[in-house]
Order: sequence, then structure tokens, then C-alpha cells
Amino acid sequence: KSMFCTDDGGLLIAEFHDDTTAFDGGKHELLKNKGRTNNRISTFLMNVLAAEGINTHFVDTLSEHEVLVKYLTMIPLECVIRNIAAGSLCRRLGVEEHLELKPALFELFLKNDDLHDPLVNENHAISFGWATQAQLDAMKVMTFKINEVLSKLFSDAGLLLVDAKYEFGIDTDGNVCLGDEISPDSCRIWDAETQETLDKDRFRKDMGDVVESYEIIARRIGAL
Ligand code: UDP
Repeated sequence: KSMFCTDDGGLLIAEFHDDTTAFDGGKHELLKNKGRTNNRISTFLMNVLAAEGINTHFVDTLSEHEVLVKYLTMIPLECVIRNIAAGSLCRRLGVEEHLELKPALFELFLKNDDLHDPLVNENHAISFGWATQAQLDAMKVMTFKINEVLSKLFSDAGLLLVDAKYEFGIDTDGNVCLGDEISPDSCRIWDAETQETLDKDRFRKDMGDVVESYEIIARRIGAL
């Protein structure tokens, strides 16, 4: 995405692109219509979460590719929550993909491309000044609440929310606020019946039909 300033210092424009990257930018392609599909999905989910009391950055839809969002001072951490083992967790701990995680597993990663987003814990975040204990507590509570709401939403649509990455910032009122996007680029989503991958793993693993799969998700949750 690209972020643009507006005349209002408290608001930014986020523009969704068709660019898709994986492996720290090592793989890059333009996937037609991906930007607008992710915009639709992310906006739909942000609105659902706002109705559930989550403070989100979403303000308004400006076009197929653009949203108006609140200015946030981003916290340089990724909050990952996992309901089913997949991806880096399996590589790191040697567990089998598809293992159900109960309760859901919360992990923190430092946003740093040069270091390949290493796994960190709350003590790192506090000692290095990336976030305060109160901010970390809020991020964790919000991540679990978001996971609860979205797991149910996807389940009702015949989909499994396997894992997801959320990013938070501090809004101009000083509150922790959900930022970035929620899309098949930032979540793993499988068909509940067939366990077919419908998310960015299709791009990572050269499985084809990437945007078509994102559109299946969008239609099933009612975002298209
Ligand atoms: N994720 C993301 N951006 C990142 C890293 C991970 O959106 O920079 C998402 C990823 O799509 C998945 C979840 O976070 O839904 C967990 O990713 P994981 O740690 O398994 O890493 P991966 O296997 O994707 O490298």
C-alpha cells in the first residue's frame, strides 16, 4: 500500500496496490484486481470489528483502491494469532501443519525487513522501547477479541481462519488502534470442508488462481 497525507493532519489516505510480494520482496508480481479485492475485504472486516467495539483506523471509502484512515504512530511489532499450525511456526518448532492450537497462540514479531522480522517477546518490546506494557496488554486483548469475532465470521462462511497478522498504532487521542489491513495477504484462510488454501500461500507456493481465491473469500463473507 501507499500512504498519502491529507490537509487534515489526523487523516491519511491508504491506497491498495495490485503488487504482491513474498519472501522479503524476493518474489514480486502484479496481480490484476488484487488491490480492490483486498480493499473490499479489509474495509468490510474493519467495519465488523468497529461494530464489536474495536478501535480501528478506518474512516471512509474514497474509491475502489483508496480508504481514508486515522493517522497512527505505528508500533513496530506484528501481532500474529494462530488457530491452526502453519507457516513459520511449523518450520521453527517442527510441528505438523493442521495441528489445532487451543487456546489460540499469540506471537510477536519485530517489523524489520533487514532482520527478516524476528520473533520477539514482550520483554524485548519494553526494554527496547517499542511499546509500553499497557500498550502490549491492549494489543493482546484486542488481538484475541479480533480473532474471536473473525473466526466466527469466517466459520459462518464455510472458511477456517488459520492464522492472521495484525498491526497496531497509537491514534491522536493516545489510544491503541488497529491499523494496516486485514486481507488474504495477511491471514491464512482455508475452505472449511476441503482445507483448500485460499490466501497468499497460493502466491508463495505458485498454486495459481490467487485473486480468484481472494474473490471467493470476499463473496462468501459478503464483502463483494
Ligand atoms: N504475515 C504477514 N506479514 C508478514 C509475516 C506474516 O501478513 O510479514 C502473516 C502470514 O500471511 C500468516 C501469518 O502472518 O497469515 C503468520 O505468518 P508466519 O509467521 O507463519 O510466516 P510465513 O510462513 O507467512 O512466512
